[in-house]
Amino acid sequence: MCKKISDKTFEEWISALQGGKSLSRSEYCVLIDSADSAQQELLRSVAESVTVSHFGYAVYVRGLIEISSYCRNNCLYCGLRRSNREAERYRLTQKEILDVCRQGYADGFRTFVLQGGEDTALSDAYVADVVRAIKETCPEAAVTLSLGERSPECYQMWREAGADRYLLRHETRNEQHYAYLHPQEMSAAARRQCLEHLKTLGYQVGAGMMVGSPGQTTQHLVDDLEYLDELRPEMIGIGPFIPAANTPFAYESAGDVRKVLILLSLLRLRHPYALIPSTTALISLYPEGRQLGLMAGANVLMPNLTPDSVRHKYAIYQNKACTGCEEGAYVHTLNQHLHAIGRHVDMGRGDYKEKNQTSCIK
Ligand code: SAH
Ligand code: SF4
Repeated sequence: MCKKISDKTFEEWISALQGGKSLSRSEYCVLIDSADSAQQELLRSVAESVTVSHFGYAVYVRGLIEISSYCRNNCLYCGLRRSNREAERYRLTQKEILDVCRQGYADGFRTFVLQGGEDTALSDAYVADVVRAIKETCPEAAVTLSLGERSPECYQMWREAGADRYLLRHETRNEQHYAYLHPQEMSAAARRQCLEHLKTLGYQVGAGMMVGSPGQTTQHLVDDLEYLDELRPEMIGIGPFIPAANTPFAYESAGDVRKVLILLSLLRLRHPYALIPSTTALISLYPEGRQLGLMAGANVLMPNLTPDSVRHKYAIYQNKACTGCEEGAYVHTLNQHLHAIGRHVDMGRGDYKEKNQTSCIK
């Protein structure tokens, strides 16, 4: 049972986390459920100062390209699930993807994230070709893929083609909760196996979970924190669950922004060098979400470069923010927003580096 915590104990926990120690399961549980607003503010400010001490005031920017809305999977929470007959489907051609990258590269982007449903028409060799073509056209750019579960051979082919990073959220570490969110043919173990393969192949790997997904308890979130401690991914993506129309969870409540922010801060303290985005889901649910995420420990933004004509079709959940990037001026506008919280855009590749200490002191 989670209960209120004294300020003295709370401060001891924060010091322990700052010193690289983790908390016990019950301590995490109390912290996540019961931190009052002053305690939450203390956690946030410590997480922000850890972020700044490792990355300075820089916020890395990744150009997100949603390459296909077809999906063979049937995750119960996602608007792109195959059983959703109302979902509009599209697939970008190689030329369309390259055009976006070329323009993005000219605008200064040095990371492109190709994300999509598990689209069987995107063959292993086809995606490898696309990666090679991007690397030729945009030689200094990092390519991140986020195309779901594939065979080890496929991940290897994409890595050899030049892919640098892979985002595959573990979604939830708890087996029963995973089974509640997914159809029978999917398993938490298969997901973890993919993450292991990706690590072995030398990808910078991103894992993470939704916060507030149906059936999720605080204990499940603690399972996630412990799993991320074990995996030590280079990137960690978390965001609130948001109901998607025409899915079994369409009428469930969205995740709690407060909880997302607490978890972002905890993750920053446990993973000081990780690349952690302030996610589109957070921005979609709460107008100030982008800044709040960055102030809580995030250091990455992923503006959407998907062509306007199809962007609305990538509807993984309702009212997805169109943090679009139609022209180069977007970066300038973004910078103005970031200046308000003392941060600025960094258009570099922003690779994972342990101990990339900067001398930037606030
Ligand atoms: N098909 C790939 C990538 C696209 S989905 C994959 O599943 O890995 C990318 C992420 O969107 C998922 O990992 C999931 O965490 C998130 N997502 C899906 N449906 C969501 C919803 N209803 N609310 C919030 N996030 C969602
Ligand atoms: Fe497909 Fe990914 Fe959505 Fe699952 S979360 S249905 S794999 S797009």
